[in-house]
Amino acid sequence: MSIGGGVHRAIERSCSIKCTAMQIFVKNNMQWFARPLQREEISAFLDHTQRAELHSVFAHANYLINLAATNPQFHANSLRALSEELVRADQLELPFLVLHPGAHVGAGEEAGLVKIVGSINHVLAGLPKAKTRIALETTAGQGSCLGHRFEHLAYIIANVRKPGRLCVCLDTAHVFAAGYELATEKATKRMFAEFDRIVGLEHLVALHLNDSKTVRGSRVDRHEHIGKGQIGLEAFRFIMRDRRFRKIPKVLETPKGKELKEDMENMQTLRSLR
Ligand code: ZN
Ligand code: FE
Ligand code: FE
Repeated sequence: MSIGGGVHRAIERSCSIKCTAMQIFVKNNMQWFARPLQREEISAFLDHTQRAELHSVFAHANYLINLAATNPQFHANSLRALSEELVRADQLELPFLVLHPGAHVGAGEEAGLVKIVGSINHVLAGLPKAKTRIALETTAGQGSCLGHRFEHLAYIIANVRKPGRLCVCLDTAHVFAAGYELATEKATKRMFAEFDRIVGLEHLVALHLNDSKTVRGSRVDRHEHIGKGQIGLEAFRFIMRDRRFRKIPKVLETPKGKELKEDMENMQTLRSLR
């Protein structure tokens, strides 16, 4: 949800269309850095009268951050930006910040994963008191992006110094574009069984429910409205009905205009599947 006009405005936008969960950026998502949140901005968010209408509120990190960057300046910027965003999310008392693990930019998967582990260790060591966790997101595997195999997320969790400060977010469009099958309820069930076996469902804290414009295995990340893409309704029906996901917040990252009509339609579609 857009934070235009201040983070507290996102609460109003979400409540105006009866959302029960909300994902926000904690600053402009295409900018490396921003001035710190002012005390007034923080209290406008925390003390908002509609805050309690949302069962779950969490953040998504900006897209510039690459913890596996090979360029020293990009890598340094990435560490600083992630650290600053974790501070902002913590000030807003958000439970986790969703993060794409990183892109190895030619260094190779192994080297990339090692670099991500080291980067996470560095950032978390610098913020010993922050309660906000990092939720690693499954990715489509565009270019050299890591996180398109469940094994990548499992490796990172298994190797960081503080695994309890990490958790996981699964994006349906991403896992589909990465090659996992979601065409039927049965296939979706199998995908989650594999996720459980390799990562562990106990680490799952959020779901990004997006259909995909691109075909399975395309490794191209293009979100589509629920039921209008290559995934279709079956996978979403399974997710909306499975008891294990009842308390897992689900958010849309589908195209939308200022009026939020598309969000309302997609939520209606999902809720009707229950
Ligand atoms: Zn994401
Ligand atoms: Fe996502
Ligand atoms: Fe995406």
